[in-house]
Amino acid sequence: MDQEVRNVTIIGSGPAGLTAAVYASRGDLQPLVVEGVEAGGQLMLTTDVENYPGFVDGIMGPELMERMRKQAARFGTDYLTDNVRSVDLSTRPFKVATAGDTIETRSLIIATGASARMLGVPGERELLGHGVSTCATCDGFFFRDRKLLIVGGGDSAMEEAIFLTKFASSVTVIHRRDKLRASKIMQDRAKENPKITFIWDSVVSEIVGNGKVAGARLRNLKTGDETTVEAGGIFVAIGHTPNTALFEDQVELNGGYIVTPREDTQTTVAGVFAAGDVVDHRYRQAITAAGMGCMAAMDAERFLEGADH
Ligand code: NAP
Repeated sequence: MDQEVRNVTIIGSGPAGLTAAVYASRGDLQPLVVEGVEAGGQLMLTTDVENYPGFVDGIMGPELMERMRKQAARFGTDYLTDNVRSVDLSTRPFKVATAGDTIETRSLIIATGASARMLGVPGERELLGHGVSTCATCDGFFFRDRKLLIVGGGDSAMEEAIFLTKFASSVTVIHRRDKLRASKIMQDRAKENPKITFIWDSVVSEIVGNGKVAGARLRNLKTGDETTVEAGGIFVAIGHTPNTALFEDQVELNGGYIVTPREDTQTTVAGVFAAGDVVDHRYRQAITAAGMGCMAAMDAERFLEGADH
């Protein structure tokens, strides 16, 4: 690998990271993408993407990411398939360390995305992959003719509930309030689906099973009543946490998300930019992440033109 100081290093290879790479490589900056051993971000865990403009009939998430990767490679992007272990943003050039390399870079684009949030109740970790899942589109196929539970009241929970009705005998949504957070259209679709029922004002207090999920203990938050429901699988769809552990104490965070205080994508460290779900807790779409990746690359280019290094 090139040992010289890099112009731009991009951490993350979802839509934000790879769009930044397309722009930075077309700007002749020869970016390095540290893509992580699970490259491609959250779209690798989805099937059909129907709202990414330009794909009239939709496109599969992994195929979209493969296309972005190849597009960036075409203009000279280098890839390093490794996880970043630490970064040092207090020195210039910045340092990015993986298991095998230390990269020095004049500018950095953080596009590390977000990960699925878990419930943190007994049984969840032990049974993850044995009936507990955070990705219906990845695992739904394995749950044919089972009674399934979905936890959450947002768009993801509704989308996953509807998707799972293709396989499951029934899907029960467990939500901690009596109102869904999901958009009206997703709520209507879920409520109209004859295989979907709802348990309101309730949380999962324990996931039960011996080697594989058998059901869940539920607690009604209004009455305090505890019940046990039988289930062959539990899908947790309660949102995401930004992947920012590497950057704590180095750039300013707010609720775990990276702060970009100016009108552009620069973080609280000059020359360090951030894009996509690691910044954005509002829109969280592939297309908005891609848009921010473009912005970050343009901001990095402008920084390099003006920076003394
Ligand atoms: P979200 O909108 O943050 O919803 C998370 C849901 O999980 C909420 O209903 C929340 O309850 C519940 N929850 C959170 N922590 C919990 C806990 N510890 N125990 C039990 N329940 C808990 O997350 P999301 O559904 O993943 O959606 C994220 C963003 O992506 C949203 O902007 C959404 O619109 C978008 N999205 C869009 C689509 C689409 O348009 N097709 C599909 C998927 C996602 P409360 O409601 O009580 O807070």
